[in-house]
Amino acid sequence: MLPVDAFIALGSNLGDPLSQIAAAIEALSHLPHTQLMRASKRYVNPPMGPQDQPDYVNAVVLLSTHLAPLELLDALQALEHAAGRFATRHWGERVLDLDILTYGSQIIQTERLTIPHVGVAERRFVLAPWAEIAAQAQLPDGRRIADLLAAAPNHPLHVLPAVGRDDLASNLPDSMAMNHPET
Ligand code: AMP
Repeated sequence: MLPVDAFIALGSNLGDPLSQIAAAIEALSHLPHTQLMRASKRYVNPPMGPQDQPDYVNAVVLLSTHLAPLELLDALQALEHAAGRFATRHWGERVLDLDILTYGSQIIQTERLTIPHVGVAERRFVLAPWAEIAAQAQLPDGRRIADLLAAAPNHPLHVLPAVGRDDLASNLPDSMAMNHPET
């Protein structure tokens, strides 16, 4: 069976978000039956929802995976829990949030999974890193990420460099230090 391209959004605004995002990208590179193909820079931006919480750090990665959608969700939720995620208020602060943006061109609507992920078409902090790593990417309905970004409501974003060796443990594979590995 051919692997499926899955775009994953990462977000964090508690603890040390920059290194938590870096560690999460590393962890995603070790998921079973999965390859990390690309990782965006990290985007710092003010929170949606309650404003009395720290800024968020967001990023998007492209995985090539043999995991089924629910297997991928289970794996992401295991990483969230390992990072110390705990339930908070709606749109509230979190150590690590991992969302499946798209899974190939599939549309999925089940109790546990909505793909494409809700609200992606309007969220600049998702669309900007997504367009950075995959300018030609599309939603299943054919809308291009780059076009959605151009039309998205304004939302301040501060772009930091891609995850580099300084952010990560010393024994990482080379691929982790790259922003655009060859695909
Ligand atoms: P949140 O707190 O916003 O991260 O929501 C977590 C819940 O969203 C989990 O219970 C998931 O089952 C559900 N969920 C629905 N669709 C997705 C998706 N595309 N990616 C990740 N979680 C999802």
